[in-house]
Amino acid sequence: MVNLHEIESFAKDLIKEHCPTYRFEWSRGTTVHGQCSYTRRVIKLSKPYALVATQDQIFNTITHEIAHAVVGSGHGHDFVWQRKHKELGGNGKRCSTVSVPRAINYVLTCEGKCWTANYQRRPKLEGRICRRCRGKLISTVA
Ligand SMILES: [Zn+2]
Ligand SMILES: [Zn+2]
Repeated sequence: MVNLHEIESFAKDLIKEHCPTYRFEWSRGTTVHGQCSYTRRVIKLSKPYALVATQDQIFNTITHEIAHAVVGSGHGHDFVWQRKHKELGGNGKRCSTVSVPRAINYVLTCEGKCWTANYQRRPKLEGRICRRCRGKLISTVA
């Protein structure tokens, strides 16, 4: 288990050094480990990913996104981006291969508690009722 506070301050230090106009944000993605938003100037790191990845993998993901921020959106994963990623200490590769267990953030049930279902995002409840008990659906934060 890694320390999320340490990762966050480490990422913020790297961002300050290499692309100071960007901010750091945690994300909840499980399929996307890191993201670089050029328009919002945000570098995101997936919290569920950070919890299961090794420090090397996390370092590689953070530098991957910082390299995007430094060279700009036009470069994608081309040689300019690869060179920057390696310069930052990354491996210059496009994807990391850590599989992240799907996070359960919301639990949905009905008034009669006939069943439960897990969701990552808040499910839409408007107008939905349970087919079995005709009760309202209820979502709770897991
Ligand atoms: Zn990328
Ligand atoms: Zn029901």
